[in-house]
Amino acid sequence: MSENDIIQHDVIIIGGGLAGLRAAVEACDCSADVALVSKVYPLRSHSVAAQGGINAALGNSPEAKDDTWEKHAFDTIKGSVYLADQDAVEVLCREAPKIVLELEHWGTVFSRDEEGRIAQRPFGGAGVPRTCYAADRTGHNLLNTLFEQANSRGITFYNEYFVTSLVVDEKRCHGCIALDIHSGELNGFVSQSLILATGGYGMIYDHSTNSLINTGDGMALALNAGAQMKDMEFVQFHPTTLYGSNILISEGARGEGAYLVNAEGERFMDRYAPKAMELAPRDIVARSIMREIAAGRGFDGGYVHLDLRHLGADKINERLPGIRQIAMDFANLDPVEVPIPVQPGQHYSMGGIDVGLDGETGINGLYAAGECACISVHGANRLGGNSLLDTLVFGKRAGAKASNGKNGADISVVKNIILRENNRIQDLLNSKGEDFAPLMRDMKKTMFDRYGIFRDENSMNHGLQGINRLKQRFKQVAVKGSGKSFNQALVRILELGYMLDIAETVALSAIKRKESRGSHFRTDYPDRSDDKYLKHTIIKAGTGQERSLAYSPVKLGQYPVKEGND
Ligand SMILES: Cc1cc2nc3c(=O)[nH]c(=O)nc-3n(C[C@H](O)[C@H](O)[C@H](O)COP(=O)(O)OP(=O)(O)OC[C@H]3O[C@@H](n4cnc5c(N)ncnc54)[C@H](O)[C@@H]3O)c2cc1C
Repeated sequence: MSENDIIQHDVIIIGGGLAGLRAAVEACDCSADVALVSKVYPLRSHSVAAQGGINAALGNSPEAKDDTWEKHAFDTIKGSVYLADQDAVEVLCREAPKIVLELEHWGTVFSRDEEGRIAQRPFGGAGVPRTCYAADRTGHNLLNTLFEQANSRGITFYNEYFVTSLVVDEKRCHGCIALDIHSGELNGFVSQSLILATGGYGMIYDHSTNSLINTGDGMALALNAGAQMKDMEFVQFHPTTLYGSNILISEGARGEGAYLVNAEGERFMDRYAPKAMELAPRDIVARSIMREIAAGRGFDGGYVHLDLRHLGADKINERLPGIRQIAMDFANLDPVEVPIPVQPGQHYSMGGIDVGLDGETGINGLYAAGECACISVHGANRLGGNSLLDTLVFGKRAGAKASNGKNGADISVVKNIILRENNRIQDLLNSKGEDFAPLMRDMKKTMFDRYGIFRDENSMNHGLQGINRLKQRFKQVAVKGSGKSFNQALVRILELGYMLDIAETVALSAIKRKESRGSHFRTDYPDRSDDKYLKHTIIKAGTGQERSLAYSPVKLGQYPVKEGND
């Protein structure tokens, strides 16, 4: 391979969702030459599916006149069950109004109140209506706005390029290797700074609201390159996903006033969270639904009803048109007339690559932002509307920081790794081993059954053994079909390898945390233990296949730790 086959830019961003695009725009505005690499066309990133909205203490709603960033921070920290780092939460909430208005000025069409200001709806765990929204298509609006901004700045896009490896040598990142999915050729990328903005890993679970592309690639790449993973046991289950397909039914529906009702016609949340009712934090609502089902008060098949009928057709059409369409298209029912059958499903990864306030990973020149990163602002449980905010606030900061990078990236190191990657992929193409699909199914089932809403030691230990067996079988997996162009089987297999790495980190972290906190609920340790576990779980790659586990302190601040979280 000649030197011309290596692509060079100052800053390379992997991921075209909100975090990646916001980072790209910022790095470009700081005068860096920026390129963005994405395995799908950027507008197909999972960010486009975000429905309910983005939080900012604008104080536009009459019930929220005296809202402040401090109140937003308090709700976020309480919702995180005190595991969020308070310095990071302060940045998130302080920056929120600015970041939302910036998007509005760039062209995002937010829904409006009667006075023409950005409308705000109530969301779970928030004291007042604070969630800005564009009907129930907020992610779609934000992503299109940022994509326009990125294009207008002349940022270079490498779409449908799949990153297979980071090039890291002696704690310095030189770039990455990516498969051009169209041609089937590997390309080397060299950069002074590289930002991972690769999103979540929901696909390791059955019953997920996530897109098929959410396979945790960036987290696994970072882990295997020597970065640390933080708080991987915290996996959010959204209370309301459509029964059958697990498509998300936004919290915006409950924010607008929808009720949860069991098979006996009871609005059962007053049994579990009499004050907040349907707008208690997501972990509480998800567990409450599961408890109703376990007590025999669910519908056959395991679901409850989300009733929107009392909102009326006008409100549903104005505020929740996407939800109505999803129910009609995928459940063949109209929520104006009948309740929607819902059950909890995997939704969000609170844990991720351990980073500082500017996305720094501890590896020179390597940054991370968005759902793949853990700063941490969500702790044990993310509040709805805080993730879109996280992608924009910390994507922007990572972009600014990365634009200053001068890490002495070395082309020859990148070239060496291309050869290694070429051999790895050739081996996969030549292998005569087993098909990957059964492994994928087993992994998803194991994760849902053993590391789901309720967990216990015995079940999780069995789960880890299962994951380890799958990792062994993965070594023999074969690509059925050796064509180079658009070899989707090859891409799925590379993703499966990343997913198994991530599943293992979730398992190891969850087994060791012997308490219940936020989304991590253990039936064998049902209480929260601040004495022992008010700390972050850290996983690192050890020598060979080994992983090492450690803990790091939570950064506390002006919000004292209190008991309870309803
Ligand atoms: C259905 C749904 C609704 C949601 N609604 C809300 C909401 O209303 N409010 C809220 O705050 N949050 C919401 N969330 C969460 C929020 O949308 C996400 O956390 C956020 O959009 C993630 O953005 P991101 O930029 O980090 O990653 P993503 O948008 O997931 O983008 C990841 C990018 O990485 C690229 N990539 C990944 N791996 C590779 C690789 N190997 N090579 C090259 N490229 C790669 C992909 O191509 C993609 O462009 C929702 C999530 C879901 C699933």
